[in-house]
Amino acid sequence: MKYVDEYRDPQCVNKLLNAIDGITTQPWTIMEVCGGQTHSIIKHGLDRLLPNSIRLIHGPGCPVCVTPIAYIDKALAIAQQTDVILCSFGDMLRVPGSQYDLLNLKSQGADIRIVYSPLDALVLAEHNPDKKIVFFAVGFETTAPACAMAVFQAKQRAIDNFFMLVCHVCVPPVMQALLSAPDNTVQGFLGAGHVCSIMGYHEYHAISRQYKIPIVITGFEPVDILQGIFLCIRQLETKTYRVENQYKRVVSEQGNIPAQQLMQQVYNTVDRRWRGMGNIVDSGLSLSDEYAAWNAELHFSVTEIDTEEPAECRSGEILKGLIKPAQCPAFNTRCTPEHPLGATMVSSEGACAAYYHYRRNQYD
Ligand code: SF4
Repeated sequence: MKYVDEYRDPQCVNKLLNAIDGITTQPWTIMEVCGGQTHSIIKHGLDRLLPNSIRLIHGPGCPVCVTPIAYIDKALAIAQQTDVILCSFGDMLRVPGSQYDLLNLKSQGADIRIVYSPLDALVLAEHNPDKKIVFFAVGFETTAPACAMAVFQAKQRAIDNFFMLVCHVCVPPVMQALLSAPDNTVQGFLGAGHVCSIMGYHEYHAISRQYKIPIVITGFEPVDILQGIFLCIRQLETKTYRVENQYKRVVSEQGNIPAQQLMQQVYNTVDRRWRGMGNIVDSGLSLSDEYAAWNAELHFSVTEIDTEEPAECRSGEILKGLIKPAQCPAFNTRCTPEHPLGATMVSSEGACAAYYHYRRNQYD
């Protein structure tokens, strides 16, 4: 398949592994930001093919995993109200809230539906004028434009029974938060290619300069990831820190400008709590005042719901790269994809789920 097979070519993989081996003179710790990259690394065993001195740690780039439990509880509270149809992407239905998850509530009769696009929820609103349709909007800058388009269309077409519970988050602030933490061990980043296809990578130059760290915008296939690691290590070994773009076939410096303009129109930047990571300044998006009438938090009066994360789940440490999933005592015992204790075991991009699917009997 074009643009897939050539990025899984064993000869290219071997060539890159040799090149990485040839330039590496000391241990380095690199974080892949995106959960899709984590999944690819574990699925293809790339971390085990690298020299032992290269440590890969798995970052917070899985949107389901970082959605705070308080927002799950808000969605649960809204879904229990009269005449509501709550819609979201499939993974969100199995993320545990403080008492239960959306799938439990659905089994008790609540009208909760899986959709593949926020625009599907808008169509549902048009077809059900006697119902209130709420779309639970999570995700990074990659999914935020489609959700922005849904609420923009709702306003244009005066659809007043459509609402959005918005919990979008942004990547650059969490990278800065990780680098500023006293326990930070990250020495180089593989930047999230999908996010940069929307936002470009102009925002990352300041981070690279401030923290003297390589940031390589990287794709998702084995050759992409190994090339990203090579570029990262080459910078570290030569002490030249800058932003490089490995994912040129998709990402440009400026990104998708119409998508960015739509986001600026629809959203405000706000502080946001990340699951397991606490509050991060200016890391979230919420609907701007112009779209307050479509804001589900305001309409259903759930802004005050604020739930603490469960102590047993150590996903916060995993998302900061401090431990690997198998180091959590609940991994593959009390916590499995069928009975997840935390969001990182639910999402297909979650680090715990990736280790469960590909390595659950090989603790390392
Ligand atoms: S294995 Fe389960 S409980 Fe442990 S960190 Fe992962 S999601 Fe949380």
